[in-house]
Amino acid sequence: MLRHDGTYKIYRIQHRYRKRGDWTFSGDSLFANVPPRLRFTGRTYGEHRSPFLEFGASGDVWQQTGIHGTYSYGVARRMLELVAQHNEKHSFRIVLILISQETRLTRDCHCEICRAELSIRVWKRLHEAGYRTFAEIRSALAQDHRALLKIPGFGRKSFNEFAEVAYQVEKEKQSAN
Ligand SMILES: [Zn+2]
Repeated sequence: MLRHDGTYKIYRIQHRYRKRGDWTFSGDSLFANVPPRLRFTGRTYGEHRSPFLEFGASGDVWQQTGIHGTYSYGVARRMLELVAQHNEKHSFRIVLILISQETRLTRDCHCEICRAELSIRVWKRLHEAGYRTFAEIRSALAQDHRALLKIPGFGRKSFNEFAEVAYQVEKEKQSAN
């Protein structure tokens, strides 16, 4: 899972066997054929060297996205050369992966406005304006009939949607009584 919202450009290594078949993402099984002295700072243990460091679980990309790759094309080139040298039956290439994430609020506070069948746009504006019940909105409108239209972005279209849902909510309340 991505740690922050936004778009990430990640360079990854792919391979295929004997120049045939589908390209698949390369990982530990092929990376492990590179001699340990080129992968680790120690003899057979310890921190990975660059570019293995960047492709490993302690690299930024794995930490932020859960993907084995690098943000740097230069690092990807070094990785490609090293892995290709030690896996002669495979051909390798670098691909650029674009992934993005946008975090949005969910309607999980269970107030009347969250439970109503409003569009995200209308729900968000009412909720951000602090309304939690239809009664609150009714009393605000009784004070000032343009109250909703003063919420930024809450135009005639939003008002019509709200009025229709409010009417349904009112009708359900009455039939429940
Ligand atoms: Zn709510």
